[in-house]
Amino acid sequence: MSWETVIGLEIHVQLATRSKMFCGCSSAFGDQPNTNVCPTCLGLPGALPVANLEAVRLATRAALALDLTIHRTSVFARKNYFYPDLPKGYQISQFDMPLATAGRLRIASPDRDDITVEITRLHLEEDAGKSLHDRIPEKTAVDFNRAGVPLVEIVTEPDLRSPAEARAFLVALKQILQYLEISDCNMEEGHLRVDANLSIRPANGSTLGVKQEVKNMNSFAAAERALEQLRDRQIDLVEAKQAIELTTFSAASGALRAIRKKEESHDYRYFPEPDLPPLTLADDWIADERHALPELPEAKQIRFQHEYGIRPYDADVLSATRQIADYFEAVVAAGAPPVETGKWVMGSVLHETKEDDHPVQVDPSRLAALIAMVARGDLSTLAAKRVYRALAATNDGPKAVAERLGVLQVRNEDQITAWVEAVLQARDSEVARFRDGETKLLGFFMGQVMQQSGGKADPDKVRAILSDKLQPDS
Ligand SMILES: [Zn+2]
Repeated sequence: MSWETVIGLEIHVQLATRSKMFCGCSSAFGDQPNTNVCPTCLGLPGALPVANLEAVRLATRAALALDLTIHRTSVFARKNYFYPDLPKGYQISQFDMPLATAGRLRIASPDRDDITVEITRLHLEEDAGKSLHDRIPEKTAVDFNRAGVPLVEIVTEPDLRSPAEARAFLVALKQILQYLEISDCNMEEGHLRVDANLSIRPANGSTLGVKQEVKNMNSFAAAERALEQLRDRQIDLVEAKQAIELTTFSAASGALRAIRKKEESHDYRYFPEPDLPPLTLADDWIADERHALPELPEAKQIRFQHEYGIRPYDADVLSATRQIADYFEAVVAAGAPPVETGKWVMGSVLHETKEDDHPVQVDPSRLAALIAMVARGDLSTLAAKRVYRALAATNDGPKAVAERLGVLQVRNEDQITAWVEAVLQARDSEVARFRDGETKLLGFFMGQVMQQSGGKADPDKVRAILSDKLQPDS
């Protein structure tokens, strides 16, 4: 029997605010444990929460970018449970009246064409603290620096049909959140966390099977692997006529490990937070936030194709991050032809930023000047790549760097003729074969002359002089 996989996702994203969701403590990552705490985020008696407007703003922008309906009134609610890293005994979240509902994100699926994934809801909440199991031997320590840090939770409908599709959705979502600059989405620091639920059903079925949840997936690749394991496990069980239980798994170690029976939301005894008024947003304010949204990746890709004649795949690469897209456009604005600029950005520039994981070092005007030198024939493409690498370490312009490296292209005909003659004299048997009709040897001679010149000879001039000198009567 063939099975269809049904996947829904729950994504927690830490918002890039300076302070926490309901108090003024710093939300910085990596500070000394328990230094960013106060009576409010420690849940001490009498301390009252106040909502962080910047967190509301960032959450609203995420909701608008994902096409959700923003509710003018939403309500904070207490989610009650006990855990050592939850000092209040409840987490402030939103439950039946969330910030936003009913959105969508269109993605390119690896298995189907473009698909639209419905987004059920997006709500604001605070993070819990962190249990540290590796600081004190055989004991668990608790760090409350993270307690109260603002999060949005984004929940999708079960619209994804394979682990690879789930991964593609996560990549697209992360790209948008980074474009919005609402989170750095750093998974290693837990700023983007993914929980997934998965069920299987007979292919083309309409009812849903029993769903199981998997947590603690540390990368998108790990999420895809964990979902594959969970899917295969469910298929094995069903084909062996065994029941699938409501279970939550952890994928932290790479293999699935059952951690608990899945709890239902009523187990949390949600109730409205009595210390916070309902969150009310004015229509004008929401409209302003909509207006402040940056151009998003999909719109940028389409514009790059129309405005600059960039091919769809290249437009995709050039708009992968806002940083790269802005850089590409700055080089074009400095006068470089767009398609050629695209090749440089996708080649040397991306190579450099990926390898060293640092921002682009060569400012747009210098790259534009370098591209112009290649177009004028002052530099070969190969030499230009050397110059580019050297530009990163200096503030000099490309001409000065090319002179210093001695790679400016030689177009002096006497010089090139001397190189050509030296090669032909040393290769008289190949010259004879060429003159007997083996004209494909021209490429061999070209290579020899370029080598003789240290890569500096102008190839067009070399070809012309070679063709001339290889004539039988010369
Ligand atoms: Zn605090």
